[in-house]
Amino acid sequence: MIADLPTSVEIREVGPRDGLQNEETIPVAERIALIDALSATGLTAIEAASFVHPKAIPPMAGSAEVMKGITRVPGVRYRALVPNERGALDALECDADELEVVMSISETHNRKNINMTPDESVQQIIELTALAHQEDTPVEAILSTAFGCAYEGDIPPTRVAQYARRVLDSGGVDGLSFGDTSGMATPRVVVELLDALEEVEIDVSLIGLHFHNTRNTGLANILVAMQRGVARFDAAIGGLGGCPYSPGATGNVATEDVVHMVEDLGATTGIELESLIRCGQLAEQLVGRQLPAQVLRSGPRTRTVDA
Ligand code: ZN
Repeated sequence: MIADLPTSVEIREVGPRDGLQNEETIPVAERIALIDALSATGLTAIEAASFVHPKAIPPMAGSAEVMKGITRVPGVRYRALVPNERGALDALECDADELEVVMSISETHNRKNINMTPDESVQQIIELTALAHQEDTPVEAILSTAFGCAYEGDIPPTRVAQYARRVLDSGGVDGLSFGDTSGMATPRVVVELLDALEEVEIDVSLIGLHFHNTRNTGLANILVAMQRGVARFDAAIGGLGGCPYSPGATGNVATEDVVHMVEDLGATTGIELESLIRCGQLAEQLVGRQLPAQVLRSGPRTRTVDA
């Protein structure tokens, strides 16, 4: 048996935002239908929308309608990504349960993605967190390119840790998520980052990890992180996702595959796998193609066939 794993793990669904923003535009009603279906699986957190300018990311246009159209299930936090003050005000107006503010540790990626230096982004995180806290809405800082950058290559884990410390101390954010934007995380890189975060005394309960499965190490990354006590991971239904500003980046780790592995390891997620698989089928219908989630095809390992 694999020792010292968390007994419960939160899997946060990011398909309706991180996934769908890289697809052809899906009608608002279908985005709502997907979120409502996901809300019935036992998930406790769903990244539902992004309040970016619709010209910047057309598939996320109509995010206010999405937030207002979904059927809120008690116990589910509906989260929204906000790029600036306008977006934060719009998200708060739509009663987002939690705001996410992104910055890249890679200066090149940060400039391409949000046209700021990392230091300007820290300042922005401070301001947006203050704004959200006035409404008692928690904020998570997403530190992207935390495991490497498609433009800059390796990112020193000590630099990631320093920014993490800064946004916690001066920004007062409520949580941290480390994004593998370009799919460069491997178990070795994950452990090196977790070592650096431990070095600056960041409590593991504040850490969430966000992996893309670009090089097929997503589940291995999650397993080594669980062995270090991390108990919060993002995943996208079907393995939807990518990043328009990170060449070659593919989808997120698939929620079906992550839930299947985590539950098999004996950690509870509260998520019902068969209903999640039906959400994966719905996601495939919406995007009109087969998605990479493997448990979506094979079902759980306990599924038997007639002899
Ligand atoms: Zn992502």
